Amino acid sequence: MSDWSKKKYMGAFVEKCSFLHTDSTCFCPAETSSEARKTQKGLLLSFPSSKQAQGLSQFQRFSLKLSRQAVAFIFFAFGNLADAMKLIYNSVFLDHNTGMHPENRKRLDAFGPLEETEVLDGTPWLNLVHTEKYIEHVRATCQAGADLDRDTVTSAGSFEAALRAVGATIMASETNDFALVRPPGHHAYPSHASGFCLFNNIAIASQKLANEGKRVFLFDFDGHLGDGTSHIFEESDQVFYCSIHQYPAFPGHGRANETGTGKGKGFTMNVPLPPNSGDDIFMDAVATCMQVMEQYNPDVVAVSAGFDAYQYDLLLELRVTENSFFKTGQMLRERSNRIFATLEGGYNVEALPACVRCFLAGINGQENPHPAKDTTSFRMEWESYELRINSTMANLKDWWKFK
Ligand SMILES: [Zn+2]
Repeated sequence: MSDWSKKKYMGAFVEKCSFLHTDSTCFCPAETSSEARKTQKGLLLSFPSSKQAQGLSQFQRFSLKLSRQAVAFIFFAFGNLADAMKLIYNSVFLDHNTGMHPENRKRLDAFGPLEETEVLDGTPWLNLVHTEKYIEHVRATCQAGADLDRDTVTSAGSFEAALRAVGATIMASETNDFALVRPPGHHAYPSHASGFCLFNNIAIASQKLANEGKRVFLFDFDGHLGDGTSHIFEESDQVFYCSIHQYPAFPGHGRANETGTGKGKGFTMNVPLPPNSGDDIFMDAVATCMQVMEQYNPDVVAVSAGFDAYQYDLLLELRVTENSFFKTGQMLRERSNRIFATLEGGYNVEALPACVRCFLAGINGQENPHPAKDTTSFRMEWESYELRINSTMANLKDWWKFK
């Protein structure tokens, strides 16, 4: 075997991590470099070099090779586990007792037993987005178990659950994870509740990142417009708000011509989908959003992950399958390695866990755990969608290029 073919033979292994370098006959340049002993996590291992190993007995060399392979495997395996997006969950989210409301604890119960993570109290960050008066109003309303508005009900445990939902989303933003929380957040405004949402989890985490100097692309694929989030960042060029949602539907806007205001003009993108849109239209919308995300070149991608675009959701009329959530995860993964997400809607209790797991599998580069038959849209939906997406692109053409 020539030196070149030996290099090529080992290349696939060595390329993943210079530390994974177990064959003393390898000709890879990493063999003689100090880099060869660095792991993915920056740890330094003190194995003898190949030249030193030549002085060892056959048995010692065999043992050394086995040790190197064992340690390589452990670090590679744990390195990958550490990098995978995982769920951040705590049973405190079940204490937001909403009774028979569509946004109820069964949405999380449906996941079965989940590993619990101790989550932060989000209180220190609430005022990044919300007024003091509103925070106190939410606290008092929850204590009384009253309603914040016609849609947004509370119970004695709701305030603590909402604080922890903010905290879990902040944690997810630091570890690139998925905060499996309730109550959801993307309809909440600085000074009033809306659409089942108390505090705007994703907006608070994104504002915190923006204050740290990060450029954030906030991608909201919940089937509703995140009107609270859109309002909070409409004047910002540091947090780009991009939403795919059914229109018409609650909250009644999110049109193609809403592109932000002031300094934030051109940094809001709405892709309104006609009712009955299937996977084909949904994925075309995702691909169009990805074009802008690439040009915006964010430091962090924040995802409002709602799953009510699902074909059998109780609240909307879109016809998206698990496949689209999987592919959306894949498309994000291909474009960023700094992504976090928080749960928004998704009201088909039986389907929600599969939808979330498909999204996670896509993000984590795994196989689709729940492949479905793609749904296709009818001509009427396509004609309506094309008018809308053309309008979205026309409204943003001064800032972004579309293929
Ligand atoms: Zn929704």
